[in-house]
Amino acid sequence: MFSLQGTGVGSGIAIGPAYVIQQSVTAAAMRRVEEDQIDQEIERLEAALKTTSERLAKTRGDVPDNAPKEIAAFLDAHIMMVDDPTLRDATVEIIQDHQFSAESALIMHRNQLAEIFENMEDEYLRSKKDDVDQVIQQILQQLVFSDDGEQNELNDSLDGCILVAHDLTPADTVHFMGMNMSAFVTNLGSPISHVAILAGSLKIPAVVGLHGAVRHIAHGTNVAVDARTGEVIVDPDEETLKILYARREEYERHQSELLALKDLDAVTRDGEKVTLLANVELPEDIEHALNSGAVGVGLYRTEYLFMNRVQLPTEEEQFEAYKEVVKSLEQVTIRTLDLGADKQVDGGRKQGNVAINPALGLRAVRFCLRSVDIFRTQLRAIYRASAFGEVQCLIPMLSNLDEIKQVTALIDEVKRDLDSENVVYDPTVKIGGMIEVPAAAITADQFAQALDFLSVGTNDLIQYTLAIDRVDDDVNYLYDPLHSSILRLIKNVLDAGTKYDIPVSLCGEMASDSRYTRLLLGMGLRIFSMDPGAIPEVKQIIRQSDVFSTLDYVDKIMTCPDSARRLDWLSHLNVAEVSVLQTARVQS
Ligand code: PEP
Ligand code: MG
Repeated sequence: MFSLQGTGVGSGIAIGPAYVIQQSVTAAAMRRVEEDQIDQEIERLEAALKTTSERLAKTRGDVPDNAPKEIAAFLDAHIMMVDDPTLRDATVEIIQDHQFSAESALIMHRNQLAEIFENMEDEYLRSKKDDVDQVIQQILQQLVFSDDGEQNELNDSLDGCILVAHDLTPADTVHFMGMNMSAFVTNLGSPISHVAILAGSLKIPAVVGLHGAVRHIAHGTNVAVDARTGEVIVDPDEETLKILYARREEYERHQSELLALKDLDAVTRDGEKVTLLANVELPEDIEHALNSGAVGVGLYRTEYLFMNRVQLPTEEEQFEAYKEVVKSLEQVTIRTLDLGADKQVDGGRKQGNVAINPALGLRAVRFCLRSVDIFRTQLRAIYRASAFGEVQCLIPMLSNLDEIKQVTALIDEVKRDLDSENVVYDPTVKIGGMIEVPAAAITADQFAQALDFLSVGTNDLIQYTLAIDRVDDDVNYLYDPLHSSILRLIKNVLDAGTKYDIPVSLCGEMASDSRYTRLLLGMGLRIFSMDPGAIPEVKQIIRQSDVFSTLDYVDKIMTCPDSARRLDWLSHLNVAEVSVLQTARVQS
């Protein structure tokens, strides 16, 4: 028995046999062939291209009607790439010129393409390199494994299994929709990658970013996956299994208890009303949001519509996606595109050269103001959707007030265009800003006067304030939402909202971590936006809290310079509230 640590996504605990699929073969050794073998290599390449294309087409045909539309689009794009004659011709040329095997030539061609894509000026086109990687990976799988049949094919036998893979492609996700796997573990991936989205929509536990998972976990071994802790226990012994089954039972019991809170108000014992909103990535997440008792959407991350595809989504496509969400919930805050840095088309996984300091580069509103056509199309789609329900427009990564002026000027232009085309929209859509750059948090009073509402993005605020890359595992240990600098910045934003009488929400991961709920309430936060799965638990804590009685502890946490002491005070705050509640129960 041994345990591995990655990043937990999705929810719950699963125990079952590992189903390991082959590791990435893009690093396969380069192999030269004899001159008389060149024709044979070209035939191997052509056969692999044909089989890959046929398999993708079959997968495309199997896409269930209820699958997110993006999946069919991913597959169409991949089929087009495999069938593109220039892919075949360029690879054949390398086989002939260098006497390379088909797979070596394909890897060489992949590297040439990667270099071209990486040097592209346009951020969006640059990110297409990842699609090329995924397609070539699939052809390589054919070349490397089809001859000896060693590959563990994805088939219908995933029932109850824990899938272990280097990474999962969009084509894989289609297979999984109809299969009953109980969890998955991947070498790559971050909490915001498409594999993490898959875990969320399949409502299963998963652990991503577990480097070496494929190497360390043998096919068929019994494995336990805990989404909450990000722990993967390989070959657990009897004693551990007993603990895991008990933990799973407890988790399931707690989940069904929490479901009973769905229709109850999020109100504290001393009468403070709290708004609980959902963070969504795709229209398919609405159902999850509604089932969790969210009263609206506080963060619609629209960049997911733009990922893993060759063509940009059209205005019409965006409009339909936004409209679907807007029609389903009372209030929907649509965030404009936050592409770039950790949110590349594959959700942050990078190979090869990347921009220098991408997190400090041309991302989010900076990218949008540079790519005005893309931005204008999105704003038109958002404003058109506003005719179907209450929409708020949220601008990510603002760092100065000039950006707000530029965005509002563009919005005015979009409104004029819509007026002249007689298109209906809501002219009173509120414009808000994400406060996730320290500069904006420090000058929150100025932002509060220039905007209709603010939303604190603690994921980026912590990254930028503490100088820790949010996708770099090596500096994860420095991630500290309780750091005095972070608490002071959040408080500064909340106070600015109060002073200028505008709503302030918090939509980073800190909102969904129930350890911080009482602290944030005590600091003055009343609008929380989070992964729908976290809403019931946070609601339960809110309903058990008495804000007034926590203020002393909150003050202690806010002013304590020592990190260990701050954690102590946080436990005191959470425990004190529980014991007050127990006393109240005993007395009643
Ligand atoms: C954040 O930065 O806290 C946030 C909510 O935005 P994202 O995680 O999408 O960057
Ligand atoms: Mg952010």
